Amino acid sequence: MTAQDITAVDPEARRGGEVLLRATDVTKHYTLRANGLSRRHRVLRAVDGVSLEVRTGETLGVVGESGCGKSTLGRCLVRLTELTGGRVEFDGRDISALSARRLRPVRPGMQLVFQDPQASLNPRRRAGDIVAEPLLVHRYGDAAAVRRRVAELFDVVGLSTAHLERYPHEFSGGQRQRIGIARALATDPRLVVADEPVSALDVSIQAQVLNLFADLQEELGLTYVFIAHDLGVVRHVSDRIAVMYLGEIVELAGTEALYGSPAHPYTQALLSAVPDIDDGTLTADGPVRERIVLTGEVPNPVDKPTGCPFRTRCPYARERCALERPPLTRTASGREVACHYPLAD
Ligand code: ADP
Repeated sequence: MTAQDITAVDPEARRGGEVLLRATDVTKHYTLRANGLSRRHRVLRAVDGVSLEVRTGETLGVVGESGCGKSTLGRCLVRLTELTGGRVEFDGRDISALSARRLRPVRPGMQLVFQDPQASLNPRRRAGDIVAEPLLVHRYGDAAAVRRRVAELFDVVGLSTAHLERYPHEFSGGQRQRIGIARALATDPRLVVADEPVSALDVSIQAQVLNLFADLQEELGLTYVFIAHDLGVVRHVSDRIAVMYLGEIVELAGTEALYGSPAHPYTQALLSAVPDIDDGTLTADGPVRERIVLTGEVPNPVDKPTGCPFRTRCPYARERCALERPPLTRTASGREVACHYPLAD
């Protein structure tokens, strides 16, 4: 996929919206039970104090290596999982502690698109029924109204009504993801959290599905949180990007600023792994960057390093980094970075 294959995003058109989603110090900890390896309960800090805002009509990309907490954060943001701490506000309302009953009327407004459409679509149900399901759950209307809405949704995502009666295995990967998107859009959400929505697709199909996301955003005024481990993918769809490491945001910046001059050494390392030359996966047109090769494994989130979580792999780490955890701080240029010695402001 090249930059040219992706519908251009007009960032100006997106800015200035109201804050639709606000996360404040969100944590999600899992308690691991004692077993043969460990006699005591241990706490896995999957999401460890994340704060962010998403404005109406914008796309916030969330990136980081596998296991850094992106999916868990996504699920916290739409309350598909209970938070351990912190709060999430959607459209000005604190939803973090709402009971299931009170959450019910809020649910249609925020939907999740999953990575693997094969796994997330019931193989025994026809595509039309899969898309109709959320409409029935939320009592959209009578059978005729549901049928009309499903046909409309198929059209919106580029599927024909001839597809309504088919089963998921009769579709290609890209078409299956279109069904997943139609299902997510059924209840007319304002916010869509897309969790690696193109990672399971062939590179040639990825651009088509990314374009669909962009077109739908423009037509329907959608707000996206777009999760990916691939910096090449999020670049083309995101207005701003949050970089996660071990459950924390280490940098949050406008897309151009982040790619042009990363401030956190981890962001720089992730960008180093993205090819500079257009080799069919990405065209990087930023300045030539110093390459950093990430060495060593991501530490276990059960045993996070003291101080800065990245310091055990950071080529610039100094003594202070082991002693003090750097808070996420807004710099002069408006980006946020959690590093004692940022590479840019
Ligand atoms: P990512 O989406 O970035 O790959 P995840 O959010 O899936 O990361 O996982 C973050 C961390 O939380 C990982 O260490 C993962 O093993 C752990 N984790 C996720 N779900 C659970 C769970 N239900 N129970 C225990 N640990 C979990």
